[in-house]
Amino acid sequence: MELKNPPYLLYSDGKGHIYEDQTLWATGRSGWDAIPVPLRDWISLPEGGQLYELPGRRGIGLDPLTGKMRLCDKGWAVAAFIPPAHTGLYLSAYETQTGAPTLPLFSYTAAGWLDGKFVVPAVRIEMDIRQQSEGFQEPAIRKGVQKLLGAYPANRLVRHIGENCALTYHCPAARNYFLGRWECPVPTSPACNANCIGCISFQPEGEQIGSTQDRLKFRPSAREIVEYTVPHLENAPYPIVSFGQGCEGEPLLMWETIRDAILEIRRQTRKGSININTNGSMPKAVEALMEAGLNSIRVSLNSAREEIYRSYYLPNNYRFRDLLESLKTVRDRGGWTSINYFVFPGVTDNPEEFEALCSLIRETNLCMIQWRNFNIDPDWYLKRMGMTDTGPALGMATLLDAIRREFPDLRHGYFNPPMERIRGSFEKDFAH
Ligand code: SF4
Repeated sequence: MELKNPPYLLYSDGKGHIYEDQTLWATGRSGWDAIPVPLRDWISLPEGGQLYELPGRRGIGLDPLTGKMRLCDKGWAVAAFIPPAHTGLYLSAYETQTGAPTLPLFSYTAAGWLDGKFVVPAVRIEMDIRQQSEGFQEPAIRKGVQKLLGAYPANRLVRHIGENCALTYHCPAARNYFLGRWECPVPTSPACNANCIGCISFQPEGEQIGSTQDRLKFRPSAREIVEYTVPHLENAPYPIVSFGQGCEGEPLLMWETIRDAILEIRRQTRKGSININTNGSMPKAVEALMEAGLNSIRVSLNSAREEIYRSYYLPNNYRFRDLLESLKTVRDRGGWTSINYFVFPGVTDNPEEFEALCSLIRETNLCMIQWRNFNIDPDWYLKRMGMTDTGPALGMATLLDAIRREFPDLRHGYFNPPMERIRGSFEKDFAH
């Protein structure tokens, strides 16, 4: 759907009502700059997407009469939180006024209005439907939680992912577990060896923002892990069990427990995929997990440039090289490797970032990039990173095309693939 004209800019009255300003066309943000969005980049706001009003911020639009950019003074700026499986190509463009509150840890994609509908500059990067909102029926989830809490009354982990993750945080992975399908979460670590500026499970006292979920407060045993994960691998369609969740610290700090759990899981079943989402900080621990039976790893990073990575992760006692070693360790042993790549238009599509990403892909023989929208206040992030000028930008759509051309065998998506996809034809229509 290529638009004939740019969409109109959106603004809110600060009371949750959103309007279009028919005197201004919507623009997009890249780094610190507001720029026109190519017409081909706009799509309808996907099902499950939400719109946010941004208090203390004025939208920047393009005046079709003058061809000049100007602020919308009719209300607050608006952004879209686009649903998983879609990658935003431009951030919402606005000017922040003095005293404006820091925005919570969500992503803020540009949005507009045209021909009776909301539109966003984004691409569907993943065909897997596991986190589509229409697939989550609350009564069925509640019934599933009751049933499995009854089945494992003494299991602290099942209680945590039931009462906290599924019913309080509405974590899609936990909800899918209690619906008996797809990816099942296995959080294990109350601690972390990094101090990410935008950590969603822990924010230091006095920080301007809160964490979106509380960090796990106990160390589960291998027995508690095995008790509920083996039946899931045995019975669920396209089963995956994933260590490393948003409600914990770094799982590799619990590698001995995870190793013992994987050994026992694989003694009982060969089915499905055992995955770990991690900061990749401990390659030796990753090696031990591979020997135990781990199948895939997803390493998170905000940048393939070491200095930008270090400025965000603020690692306690590991080096950038360690996460490259972890990826190679899994690949060299036949495992599946992904990066959980936080997309920030203007930073991710910087030519130097492109070069750094290409060398990471080559050096680690990477299997997949998961192009994740970065859940962070754009101004706050760039200020905390000391990035006063993010430099030139290729454009996210151009970057995606360039990576696809440079690495035709590299896979793109948003979620950890099940074994059927890893071993099967990855691109097979996967709307399971
Ligand atoms: S690695 Fe994960 S848990 Fe650790 S600080 Fe970063 S976001 Fe938080």
